[in-house]
Order: sequence, then structure tokens, then C-alpha cells
Amino acid sequence: MYTTLHKYFGYTSFFPLQEDIIKEALNRKDVFVLMPTGGGKSLCYQLPALLFDGITVVISPLIALMKDQVDGLLANGVPATFINSSLSFGEINGRKRRLANSEIKILYIAPERLFMPDFLEFLQGLKVSLVAIDESHCISEWGHDFRPEYRQLSILRDKFPQVPLMALTATATPVVQQDILTQLKLSGCKVFKASFNRKNLYYQIKPKDNPYNQILHYLKDRKNESGIIYCQSRKTVENLATSLQKAGYRALPYHAGLTPETRTQNQERFIRDDVEIIVATIAFGMGIDKPNVRYVIHYDLPKSIEGYYQETGRAGRDGLESDCILFFSYGDMFKIEHFILQKEAENERQVAYKQLRELVSYCEGNVCRRRLLLAYFGEQFNEPNCENCDACLEPKERFDGTIAAQKILSCVYRVDERFGINYVIDILQGAKSQKVLQNRHDTIKTYGVGKEYSKQQWQSFIRELIQLGYLKLDGDKYPVLKLHEKSRNVLTGNEKVFLTKPEEKLKIHHVETDKDYDPALFEHLRSLRKTMADREGVPPYIIFHDTSLKEMSIDYPQSLLALSKISGIGDQKLKKYGDIFVKEISRYCEQNNITPKQTTYKYPELSTKHERALTTQTTLSLYQQNLTIQEIAQKRGLAPSTIASHLEKLILDGEDVSIDRMVNPEKQNHIRRALNESGRERLAPVKEKLGDAYSYEEIRLVRAKMMCEGEKGG
Ligand code: ADP
Ligand code: ZN
Repeated sequence: MYTTLHKYFGYTSFFPLQEDIIKEALNRKDVFVLMPTGGGKSLCYQLPALLFDGITVVISPLIALMKDQVDGLLANGVPATFINSSLSFGEINGRKRRLANSEIKILYIAPERLFMPDFLEFLQGLKVSLVAIDESHCISEWGHDFRPEYRQLSILRDKFPQVPLMALTATATPVVQQDILTQLKLSGCKVFKASFNRKNLYYQIKPKDNPYNQILHYLKDRKNESGIIYCQSRKTVENLATSLQKAGYRALPYHAGLTPETRTQNQERFIRDDVEIIVATIAFGMGIDKPNVRYVIHYDLPKSIEGYYQETGRAGRDGLESDCILFFSYGDMFKIEHFILQKEAENERQVAYKQLRELVSYCEGNVCRRRLLLAYFGEQFNEPNCENCDACLEPKERFDGTIAAQKILSCVYRVDERFGINYVIDILQGAKSQKVLQNRHDTIKTYGVGKEYSKQQWQSFIRELIQLGYLKLDGDKYPVLKLHEKSRNVLTGNEKVFLTKPEEKLKIHHVETDKDYDPALFEHLRSLRKTMADREGVPPYIIFHDTSLKEMSIDYPQSLLALSKISGIGDQKLKKYGDIFVKEISRYCEQNNITPKQTTYKYPELSTKHERALTTQTTLSLYQQNLTIQEIAQKRGLAPSTIASHLEKLILDGEDVSIDRMVNPEKQNHIRRALNESGRERLAPVKEKLGDAYSYEEIRLVRAKMMCEGEKGG
């Protein structure tokens, strides 16, 4: 398992639960995998796929993303493909042939493909080792992404009775989880549930004062970072995207009102780092595998905690620090309530109200965001301070706000508890609006007594008084402020109220966790990566993840060996991109007079394996330069037998190494005959039979060739 993990994925250890899940699958048992986004679900079926001898079928909801998933695997040297409606008939047949010839380890399909004429029969005729159902919550009507085609997947259990199924999802809600188990007939299988805590996500709630300026302020230092800005309506999406473009940002809109072509194109450009910002409705995001989304901003209030968690979850898949910022306003809350009111079914309205209330109280609170989020999904978070949310990192300073509270409460009382938040503030600030004058509220005692605070500050006081239970909002469509029993003591001066001190200026969080990396080199490598990605027509992350580039910008690896120690670089990528990146890093170091740090191996046993892999590669490249075994041995200061063993290994690994140059064809024939007669296990009898004119090296090379052919021929 570890060897394969390193060879193909370039990782040296597993994320929590991955190893147990993989073992369970290798034991041919059904499994249910619950992991948050970024938890590393894909590896749970991709690694077993490499270890099984048959094919792993992955059912995935989005055709548009299959190509990227497959490109990612191919870049790691994993033979994978997809079959979907984007392909021509001929192309599909070609792929089917390769599947039938066992040339493919992983096949991606959408659920509807299973039910097309003959496809199921075709699959049943293959050697299928594992069926993985990704995004399996799509099967549940209770979930947020219900897809009717997923319902039919319930037949999988019957059609492939011997094949282990693996269902995977990032859904945190127990109802949906149960539904998945029932629908897929997986009852009784092991359920692996990872913690849903996303440690690298910073959660922040900002009062929504002037969101556009707030966003500009935030983006100022992040021109090169990718982010998603979620808005409630298509119109806001369009407007905000246009404004950001005018302000010099590369931003594109995404919503259901755009043509499918435009949507795909915009998404694609975002994934490929052609634009940094996508401004979107919640139509955007399912299955977006882009690992380097550095921030998710909720420009408007989301409708439920579940949706919010899913959307914020798209940040920081690669495990690097990322921000989740929500702009909160009661205005948005009323807008959503207004939509809810228009729902026909009473029970739907109830559910929607409940979800909204939960979300609002999440936003209003001053306690750890992480603790509340996890508690919502039934997970306890016991740390007193999570150190990565605004409530924990910037605990609000409080002051004796009794006088401010008295002004508010008294004003609410004097307008007979018949008006909303903004109207009450108008009175406090002495506004001369028609409505105020008409109601003759300019004559009451609290008129104009609140000029010491801004409108926003009054809003946040009122919000807090609601949270603290001194006030409540009543009514659906035009909620009005009402007093509570508790308010009387404040009005009479018998109870003090402590309120959060108003913020002077917008504080914007900025984490500098990976200070050590060299940002200039990082930018060099990023643009190198982008050039290569464009040349190959793949998203940049398929070449290297940001995490790998950051590590390079810390360690300055200037040889293939040093580069091989960077996380995320398996054999294939080392071979394909190693030279170019090493060259770029060396050039950079030279120009900037940097001597690389001496890094030590974190995993000694793996490193020797890896060094071995590298030394075989060196042999290969010399061999390709037409050197003989003797010459290579001399050049490298190694024994000829060592070189022969390298070549033997390369042949067995499927490298296209012709041995004709080392063993003439006539000799090859003799050796083949001898091996067939005496068996391939022991070489001594073969050598004895052939005599001194034949060396052990020659026999081993011919044997390797034969074994390879044997495998291919079936
Ligand atoms: P999910 O599908 O659960 O959202 P992914 O499969 O996309 O998660 O994995 C999230 C990120 O973590 C990817 O960038 C992936 O390459 C990386 N990753 C997965 N497993 C490991 C591991 N064992 N070690 C290091 N990185 C990993
Ligand atoms: Zn916290």
C-alpha cells in the first residue's frame, strides 16, 4: 500500500481513516465513507483500484468534471478513462475495447450510463473489482443535490452481488447518511466517519455594511489567489462580477441563467487559473475539485447551515489556510423570509424557517464558529479556543452599554412596538423622513438622542440586544421590534447591559502560516506550471498542487532526488516535469545567490526505495543514449550486474527497453528455449545448460522480456 501510495501519488502517509477504509475495501467488503471536502476521499478508491487486478468503476454525477479527474490520474501514471455522452460513438467503442483488454484500471461514468442499452451487460462482462459511488448523497431527496438518476443505483447491489461497493459523500447530516445506506442496500457495512472539522478554514462573520467595499478591501492583496463569491440572485452575481472586472480583477459570473456553454466555459477558466474569481449563485460548485480555492465569500446570507458548510467547504481542499467570510445583515434575512412566505406547502415553509433561524443564530453568536458548526452536525468540539475563527481570534471587547440599550429600548416602547430596526434607528438619529414626520415621532423623547453612534453601530447594538434576549423581532414580512420581560430592569436602571464595543475599522484577517516559503520563487513556479498546463490543455493543479509548489519554495530542490522528496510528486510526475522544475529552481537560486537547505528524509525506508527508483532512471537515460551495459557500469562506477538488474526492473515495470543491443537475437532464442525447458524460477540450471558463452545478466534480461510478454498476452 505504501509503495503504491508513493509511486503513484507521491505521498508518504495517509490522511485519517484512509488506510482503514482501503484495507476494508481490499478485503472486498462494502464501505460507507463520510469525509468532509478535502478529507481525501478519492484516494480511498483510487489506491485499491491499483491494487486489485480488475477494473474499478467510479460513478460520478458530473460529466463536465470527469475529464479533469481522469487527466489527474493519467498525470500520475494511473491508467484511467471515462465514458460519457461527450464522446463520439467510435471513441466510446475504442474505450470499451481497452477496458475489455484490461488496459484500464479506473473507469468513470455518470449514473445514467448504467441504464443505457447494453452498458450494464458490458460492465457485467468485465472483471469489475470495485464500484465506487462518489457524491452518493445525490441519491437522497433530503440532501442538497438530489439527482433522480442516482435513485436507480439501488440496483447495483443486485447486479454486482460479488463486487464490493464503496459509497462516498461529504454530507454531514445523519438523515441523508441513513438514506444513502438504505437506498444503496448497504446496511451492515462498515461506516467510516472522519471528523468534519476543517482545521485550515478560517470562519468569519462580518456585519454587511458596504459589502462591495469590504470585498475590494479584502481582495487588495490577493490578486493571484482564487476565490468564490456566492450571491443570492443572478442579478447580484452579474453586477458584482462586472464591478470587479471594472476594478481590474479577473472575475466571471456563474448562474443558472447563463447558457450551458458559458457556464462550462467560465467554470473551466476558473479551474485553469485563467481567472481568479468566480461570482456565483449556489448553482456553482458541486464536485469542483479545484484544490487551491483560497477564500469563499458569502456576499449574501445563505439559506441554511448545511448549505453554508458545503459552500465554505470548497475552500482549501489542499489543506492550506483559507478564509470563509460571510456578510451578515438582517435585511438579507428578511429577503429570505419573504421567499419562504411564498412557498406553497406549509411543512416546506416550516423547514425553511427553521433552517434560516439556525443560520441566523449561528451568525449572531459570539461563540466559536467551529464549535457551533460541528455541533450542528452532531460532532463535539471540546477545545476552548479553535484558534481559527473570528470569535476565538478576535474576541470582542465589551463596554458598559446600558445607556445605549436604554435609548433603544425606550424608543421601541415609545413607538408602541410597532416598527422595525431601521425605523427605530431613524428616530434615534433624528431623521427627518416623511414617515417619521407623518407619525409625529419627531416629538417623542428619544428623537435624535442617538447621534453619537453610526447607523451600523446602532444596528449591531440592536442585533446584540436581540441575542441577549432584551428585544425580539416579531412578524414575518415586516418584522417589528418588541420588548421582553427582561427589558424592564434595564429601563428602570436596575440592570446593566454589556455590549460589544463598536469596531472602528474593518479588521481583515490574514494568516501567514507558511511564512517560510519564498513567494517570488512560488510565483515563478506558478507561471511555469501554468504554461505547461496550457500546453497540455489541463488545469494547473493536475501538474502540481500549490502544496507541492510551496514546498519547493521552501526547500529549493535542485536535483531530481531532492525534488522527489516533495509531497505530491510520484514517479510519473518526477519523470515528466522533474527536469524542467529543477532547472527553473536552480536558475532562480543561482540568480538570487541561494544555497539550498540540506533536507533530511522524513521517511528513511521510503527514501531508499526512492533513491533506487532514481538510480534506475539514470540507467535508463544512459541506455537510451545507446551506451552498453559495460559502458554504463563504468560511467556510473557500478557493477555490470547492477546495471543489468536496473534494466531488468525497467522491463518488468513495462518500460520499452529493447534488449537486442545487449543480447543478439540468436542468443535470445537459445536462452528462451532453455528457460522454457528448465523453468524461469531458478537461473543456475539454465546457465548450466547454456554454458560459459552466456552470462547471468543476459539470461535475466531475456527472462524479464518473456515475463512481460506473458503478462500482456494473458
Ligand atoms: P475529497 O474528495 O474528500 O474532497 P480529495 O480526494 O480531493 O478530497 O483530496 C483532497 C486533497 O488532499 C487533494 O489535494 C489530494 O491530492 C490530497 N490528499 C489526499 N490524500 C492525501 C494523502 N494521504 N497525503 C497527502 N495529500 C493527500
Ligand atoms: Zn473558534
